[in-house]
Amino acid sequence: MVGVSEGPVALVIGGASGIGEATIDELVRQGWRVVVADRDVEGAERVAARINASGAAAHSVAVDVTDTPSVEAATRAAAERWERLDAVIPCAGIIDPSPSDTLEDAALLRMLDIHLVGTVRCVRAAFPYLREAAEPAIVAVSSVAAHIGTPHRLSYTAAKGGIEAVVRTLAVEWAPYGIRINAVAPGWVRTPMIARAIGEGRLDAGTLEKLSPFERFAEPVEVAGAIAFLASPAASYVSGTTLLVDGALTVRGPWPQ
Ligand code: NAD
Repeated sequence: MVGVSEGPVALVIGGASGIGEATIDELVRQGWRVVVADRDVEGAERVAARINASGAAAHSVAVDVTDTPSVEAATRAAAERWERLDAVIPCAGIIDPSPSDTLEDAALLRMLDIHLVGTVRCVRAAFPYLREAAEPAIVAVSSVAAHIGTPHRLSYTAAKGGIEAVVRTLAVEWAPYGIRINAVAPGWVRTPMIARAIGEGRLDAGTLEKLSPFERFAEPVEVAGAIAFLASPAASYVSGTTLLVDGALTVRGPWPQ
């Protein structure tokens, strides 16, 4: 059993809510120490306090993934907290409808900035620390929206598709440093982000549930398990790939059940 003061250290960006928070819980269960980074500073502090109260080790830092100095400062603070950094999980994100015919540059660039450039900022800032780690790993967060035609989500699908391309490129480029990089591509997950959109009438829960043959949303913990696997040494020869966590949504064909 790894003691609280010895476990590997993960930086989870967007860790104050949803998939990021569930990932923190799963990593802690597996003996990791965690740094919770989020634009929502109070949320990050709340998650870190909850973990520390359970007897595990967590630290919180403020970060805005759209701001390079902020990402660099948060990553440095994370690496310095326990003088090591073993895994980075850029999980921050938003959703916005973006019909292509009315999409404005500002909205497109904002989505690319948070998801795609944000992911690049996070992994770039972590590189000098990860290359010193014994078993370094990065797990980015894509979406099924990068794998199927998803109408009225142009900016989101472009950003998520870009993340998967970045994962493939860096898996090759950083393999000489021992750094593995993968992504998960979740289907619809019951997180605060989705709950808000359903509550505001922007998404319909019944329609979304039926997209998976399991006819339900994923719970955040089900995505967290996949992320924790990819971050762990159990995935030591897995790099450059995207793991779909979509309840068979993308392989469903027109065949009647
Ligand atoms: P969430 O809203 O519950 O959590 C997202 C977190 O990101 C929040 O804590 C928020 O404060 C933080 N964040 C947003 N913008 C930020 C910024 N600029 N800098 C720092 N932090 C920022 O959402 P979630 O559903 O857990 O989404 C997490 C990731 O999973 C996102 O990348 C999302 O696109 C992806 N995803 C979600 C689903 C789903 O159905 N929920 C499906 C596929 C992919």
